[in-house]
Amino acid sequence: MHGTKILEETDRLMTVCNSCRYCEGLCAVFPAMEMRRAFSDGDLNYLANLCHSCGACYVDCQFSPPHEFNVNVPKTLAIARAESYAHYAWPRAFAGLFARNGLVISVIAALSVAAFIFGFAAVHDHAVLYGIHTGPGAFYKLMPHDAMVALFGAAFLYAIVALVMSVRAFWRDIGEPIGMKTDAKSLWQAIRDAGELRYLDGGGVGCFNKDELPTDRRKIFHHLTFYGFILCFAATCVGTLYHYLFAWEAPYPWWDLPVVLGTLGGIGLLVGPIGLLAAKSQRDPVLADEQRYGMDAAFIVMLFLTSLTGLALLLWRDTSAMGPLLAIHLGFVFALFITLPYGKFVHGIYRFVALVRYARERQTMAGGASE
Ligand code: SF4
Ligand code: SF4
Repeated sequence: MHGTKILEETDRLMTVCNSCRYCEGLCAVFPAMEMRRAFSDGDLNYLANLCHSCGACYVDCQFSPPHEFNVNVPKTLAIARAESYAHYAWPRAFAGLFARNGLVISVIAALSVAAFIFGFAAVHDHAVLYGIHTGPGAFYKLMPHDAMVALFGAAFLYAIVALVMSVRAFWRDIGEPIGMKTDAKSLWQAIRDAGELRYLDGGGVGCFNKDELPTDRRKIFHHLTFYGFILCFAATCVGTLYHYLFAWEAPYPWWDLPVVLGTLGGIGLLVGPIGLLAAKSQRDPVLADEQRYGMDAAFIVMLFLTSLTGLALLLWRDTSAMGPLLAIHLGFVFALFITLPYGKFVHGIYRFVALVRYARERQTMAGGASE
């Protein structure tokens, strides 16, 4: 007996697949499945998060509908995966936010914070909002650096704590009997697999769409989005080091490292999310968990809007539009932070953790075989 209906169905499919094993070369899910004869809830959540939803095992399957076995691994694992995010959410009381993680809520949160920053500036010095401010420290005319750090530091810290707590629960559930320990080799293998999106290629041909013609589009746009996010994060880290180590205040010249990293990352976060949304519209609905489309789209659109407002700020930071643009951009950054632990962002972290577990299992198996 499993905790939910979708885990019951996942168990049924994995039992069928374990007898068949036709798809074992397609991705990590099938080899991981073959290491088991029975599946706990944690095992099924692990397998669900190993799946990259390429669709190949549905197209290749001789038991997919209309066959009476009704085997649809990509869709079943997609639903189980989405339910796992809510199951491991911290605090548990917020698990329901995954179901309501809509774009409207995120945008309202962003605009509320932008309005707060507007109000903050208006109370301190009304003229500052539409004044032209240039050179080091210009951003802090709108909101003092310490107030900005307090507001965004608290939101960031909350997101980190919530993510660590939920991933810890996930790891504990899937990690038995390995426990919390892992080794450098498994970690490096998982970093490579995640960095290359190794299993998002349908066994080498690409992801399947409505027309059943596989393409690499999802992989390319995932890469642009992921590395765009990493570059923007790196830009923030470098800017923080500049501020605290060298007392160099933002905004920085266009050729300086934080701006170069942020601009490249921002372009990735414009092109990647647009491509992902387009790729989503071309996916065969039979492969996808359509009920969670809103959660996926909310995160993708929030990344896009955060990047768009950031690049607009870069372009017009030397004009009187800087104050409003900075307030709006900070609003989107804040909304992105606080929704991170309860939206599609977690899929990247859970998938990485599942890849670490998989690398660890493979290594244990290889060690056992060579003994
Ligand atoms: S998805 Fe279908 S073809 Fe692939 S292993 Fe499962 S039952 Fe076999
Ligand atoms: S959809 Fe792709 S990644 Fe997921 S189980 Fe099937 S072949 Fe593997």
